[in-house]
Amino acid sequence: MSKRDYYEVLGVSKDASERDIKKAYKRLAMKLHPDRNQGDKGKEEEFKEVKEAYEILTDDQKRAAYDQYGHAAFEQGGHGGGGGFGGGFGGAQDFGDIFGDIFGGGRGGGRQRQQRGSDLRYNLELTLEEAVKGKTLEIKVPTYVACEPCDGSGAKKGSSAKTCSTCHGHGQVQMRQGLFAVQQTCPTCNGQGKVISDPCNSCHGQGRVQKNKTLSVKIPPGVDTGDRIRLSGEGEAGENGAPAGDLYVQANVKAHKIFERDENDLYCEMPISFTTAALGGEIEVPTLAGKVKLKIPKETQTGKMFRLRGKGVKSVRSHVTGDLMCKVVLETPVSLSGDQADLLRQLETKMGTNSKHSPKESGFFDSVKSFFDDLKG
Ligand SMILES: [Zn+2]
Ligand SMILES: [Zn+2]
Repeated sequence: MSKRDYYEVLGVSKDASERDIKKAYKRLAMKLHPDRNQGDKGKEEEFKEVKEAYEILTDDQKRAAYDQYGHAAFEQGGHGGGGGFGGGFGGAQDFGDIFGDIFGGGRGGGRQRQQRGSDLRYNLELTLEEAVKGKTLEIKVPTYVACEPCDGSGAKKGSSAKTCSTCHGHGQVQMRQGLFAVQQTCPTCNGQGKVISDPCNSCHGQGRVQKNKTLSVKIPPGVDTGDRIRLSGEGEAGENGAPAGDLYVQANVKAHKIFERDENDLYCEMPISFTTAALGGEIEVPTLAGKVKLKIPKETQTGKMFRLRGKGVKSVRSHVTGDLMCKVVLETPVSLSGDQADLLRQLETKMGTNSKHSPKESGFFDSVKSFFDDLKG
């Protein structure tokens, strides 16, 4: 019996992609399913033909051999190009597993064949200056990377993973339990659809190896604690050539000696002398871009907050720049000499009990007085 061309059987072109072939196969297999064509010998034969074509054309090595030698590549004693295929396909096979599989896959959808590698999180400690100005830095990440000798396939160089014979490459098998058919992950290949008979020595068939990866990370200006930078595809490599996960670099800004950050504003405290507070003057305030002068008006009370516009942090998300909030704290003079103390006492005497020199104090005593009056009344 002369065999039909495999491409013709599936109704695809010679340069069809594996995806097209799978699609064509699924469509035909649905149509030719023996459950739908009870006892139809012709359909059953046709199905076998379709299945065989599918198995050959989705195996890169077999497909190449077929393209070169035609059916002769798989005949006993044929010039198979030294490929060592031959063997069981084309013969009568057990239908059970493969049918369940195709239909299971068709119905259920989301079959998990290749699991993407894990995402990784890298905690990056930054100083406030680094976070505000941005920085490009190198980080070392212990991770899994695709194995080089086998190119991530897990199979020794020169060999390739074979389609699993239990599930015929579908990763799942159907178990019948009375009336019910239960879909299960194929125990032979663990759902991979492929088995590696000759594993790569470097990765022992995993397709990935553990390695410290050095990455250059660009931290944009303005990041804050909790911000994450996603490096797509820089997470762990998946097994057997599956796509890699992502790497998230999570910023953690260390406490600063002078500034405290709240969103885009910075806060700091500046000690000022008793005299500057009373008479007014100018002080130097540190900002992340250097020192700036701040005018202190006379009669400034302790705790007064001064806003320095635009001296905060430029937002990483918008172009808004925050302010620097500077709180002045009046410092009580210490370690006074006898002379100095005398001068202060003289000042005190000169001011007398005139309440106009102590606006807060007089207000406070008024409140205390009315508080006691209320108690009496
Ligand atoms: Zn390898
Ligand atoms: Zn399998």
